[in-house]
Amino acid sequence: MGFLDKIGLGKLREGLAKTREGIIGRVALLVSTRTSIDAELLEQMEEILIGGDVGVEVSLEIIESLRRRVKEEGFSDPSQLTPLLKEEIQKQFLMSGRVETDPLALPDVRPYVIMVVGINGVGKTTTIGKLAHEYVQAGKRVVIAAADTFRAAANEQLEIWAERAGAQMIHQQHGSDPAAVAFDSIQAAKARGADVVIVDTAGRLHTKVNLMDELRKIKRVLQKIDPLFPHEILLVIDASTGQNGLQQARQFSSTVGITGLVLTKLDGTAKGGIVLAISRDLKVPVRFIGVGEKLGDLQPFDPEAFVNALFER
Ligand code: GDP
Ligand code: GDP
Ligand code: MG
Repeated sequence: MGFLDKIGLGKLREGLAKTREGIIGRVALLVSTRTSIDAELLEQMEEILIGGDVGVEVSLEIIESLRRRVKEEGFSDPSQLTPLLKEEIQKQFLMSGRVETDPLALPDVRPYVIMVVGINGVGKTTTIGKLAHEYVQAGKRVVIAAADTFRAAANEQLEIWAERAGAQMIHQQHGSDPAAVAFDSIQAAKARGADVVIVDTAGRLHTKVNLMDELRKIKRVLQKIDPLFPHEILLVIDASTGQNGLQQARQFSSTVGITGLVLTKLDGTAKGGIVLAISRDLKVPVRFIGVGEKLGDLQPFDPEAFVNALFER
């Protein structure tokens, strides 16, 4: 099965409904009220993009490109702007350095270790449940490490997701050393011949320094077992937090290092333009997007499918 076949386009369209209305719907409405293309119209389009969290810089680039093309290619009918906008957004994703590989495909190493990081409430645990589900569906054995030992109810919540997904969970008491849980999970994975280990982590906000130290320690202990562990460090960002997500990404990126991004809660925001802003700003690819709270609501991120779903009326 190809990468694109795995993306449920119907679900993606549904998940992006608010953003489609919030950005593309507003642009379509705007151009429908005009009879000619002028500077004011382009400025209003720019405001809609910025309002949709596409980011000031990227929005400026897109509108500048539209302005140039209108002039050079002689467009005069406002309705021509919507397909042009689609092309420009696609170009922006291409510039962000697209990754063609299926994020669910496993390289030839066992166990494949994925560490999941991010601040509180962004959807780490939920994403891990969904991700485990995808791997189990693909016939893989999955071990989940409950290395968020900070939050009291974390083990119980993760256990529910592990059961739903059909994965095994390794945990210790609340308050124990998260690095030790990660260590145990690798031992268990090896003993059980597991294919994938997914490490959940804590995300408290108020003691940022401690959190970063804790994450670095988990990483260090994993690397002690195998220098290539963890193969992937996924940063989860709540898409509805807007430009704040960029700040989080920069911080996690500089302290623990990240190899990929997951943008959750796209179904709940009209500002899905943040996906573009983040793709352009960071040198890290968006690997998955979350479009709902259920097991099947995680999708491999494909820029082309994303833009198509955004523009399909
Ligand atoms: P964590 O603190 O980062 O582990 O976050 P959780 O996984 O506990 O999720 C926090 C809340 O976000 C929960 O209520 C989830 O149901 C919700 N959530 C996570 N991902 C999504 C998503 O893609 N869409 C929606 N609508 N809600 C989500
Ligand atoms: P420290 O707690 O600051 O000394 O950090 P370490 O890097 O030494 O280890 C962190 C945790 O990971 C320890 O508390 C252990 O539970 C676990 N750990 C690390 N290395 C090993 C090991 O070789 N064997 C076992 N059993 N546990 C380990
Ligand atoms: Mg959690």
